[in-house]
Amino acid sequence: MSLFLDLDDVYLSEELRSIRRTIRRFIDEEVKPHADRWEDEGRVPREVYLRMGELGILGMPYPEAYGGSDLGLFGTLVLGEELGRSTYGGVAGAIALQTDMSAGHLARHGSAPLKERYLRDIVAGRIVCSTAVTEPDAGSDVASLKTSARAEGGDFVLNGSKMFITSGVHADIYFVAARTDPQARGAHGVSLFVVEKGTPGLSIRGPLKKTGWLSSDTAQLFFDEVRVPAANLIGELNKGFQHVMEGFEHERFSIGAISLGHCEAAIELTLRWLADRSAFGAKLWDLHGIKLEMARLLTELCAAKALLYQSVDVAVRGGDARTLAAMVKAHLPPLANRILYQCVQFHGGMGFMRETAVERMSRDSRVLAIGGGATEVMLMEVSKHIHRQLR
Ligand SMILES: Cc1cc2nc3c(=O)[nH]c(=O)nc-3n(C[C@H](O)[C@H](O)[C@H](O)COP(=O)(O)OP(=O)(O)OC[C@H]3O[C@@H](n4cnc5c(N)ncnc54)[C@H](O)[C@@H]3O)c2cc1C
Repeated sequence: MSLFLDLDDVYLSEELRSIRRTIRRFIDEEVKPHADRWEDEGRVPREVYLRMGELGILGMPYPEAYGGSDLGLFGTLVLGEELGRSTYGGVAGAIALQTDMSAGHLARHGSAPLKERYLRDIVAGRIVCSTAVTEPDAGSDVASLKTSARAEGGDFVLNGSKMFITSGVHADIYFVAARTDPQARGAHGVSLFVVEKGTPGLSIRGPLKKTGWLSSDTAQLFFDEVRVPAANLIGELNKGFQHVMEGFEHERFSIGAISLGHCEAAIELTLRWLADRSAFGAKLWDLHGIKLEMARLLTELCAAKALLYQSVDVAVRGGDARTLAAMVKAHLPPLANRILYQCVQFHGGMGFMRETAVERMSRDSRVLAIGGGATEVMLMEVSKHIHRQLR
């Protein structure tokens, strides 16, 4: 057995194993040597999206008809894990937002002309897309969103604002959730629209200054009488909330996989550090307390990895994996935070220095437990499952 539970032979096709090698090589050769600069610049350059499109990485979940490779959720898992292993959470966030947290809305529910217009370019990396659901007063409680879209003369006119939008500054198009039925409450009466950058009335505040994910830009969007053609409606009118919800499972597995990748990279780096560094006449690794703690963290990680792979397998086989996805999202990001805390600790002062990857991942992993549904919200989902079983 390798250091981590090696599940590729159990779950992955030869095609996916080969894609993993391609992604890992791409990250080693074309991401890691440049990503410190991207962190300083606050963005992942366009050429990187184009190169990933060329390698077929951005289209893994999407149909061949649009340039994708239809690799399903295990493709998402492999990409997320490798992005997490890159040690650059900002790069992982920016790319996963494109591949696994945004374009899916269009692919699943968009009309044929909308997909023809945007999906092929998204898969090729020519268009950067973004999803705008969260609002200043509607985050965890997504159903209380207030941005409105009123029908007028064959168009929809949007008013309101969106908060914490990944790629908000640099995206070309936004998938925006807005209330189309002012009388409806909660999850009802919400629709999803494509809004292009540059549409009159759309303004952007950002990039917002953040603790981590520095190479992924985050912005606030303002809609002031933003007019979009009715043809830009994604899916059914007033069913936008359900459409967004359908993407949650995918998103939660993606965030779980990024968390897993961070943990694997952090443990590898820390074991190397412990084997090199001496204190009290021995290598740090020889200190009993450190050995046991690393063994405990590795054991917890392997258990979490098994949960992630098995849950994805259930979903791929057509099973109901909604609760499993919530468990994955509730478990892996907090575990990543605990593992990163300890890895920083075992690096001593160096773990607090910007030049170490564990320092960066300790900042980057924080948002994984908040974005895409906070841990507590995921646990609420799991508790609903328990409640249903008890009835
Ligand atoms: C870097 C970054 C990128 C993001 N990217 C996007 C994006 O691209 N698109 C987008 O739409 N959104 C995005 N978000 C928004 C993100 O999804 C929200 O921040 C998240 O859903 C939490 O919402 P909130 O910040 O409003 O926190 P709140 O809803 O105010 O919650 C605050 C805290 O309260 C606790 N809490 C909330 N509800 C419950 C509950 N029911 N029970 C117990 N505790 C609870 C949790 O600890 C939670 O973290 C991003 C956020 C960040 C930080």
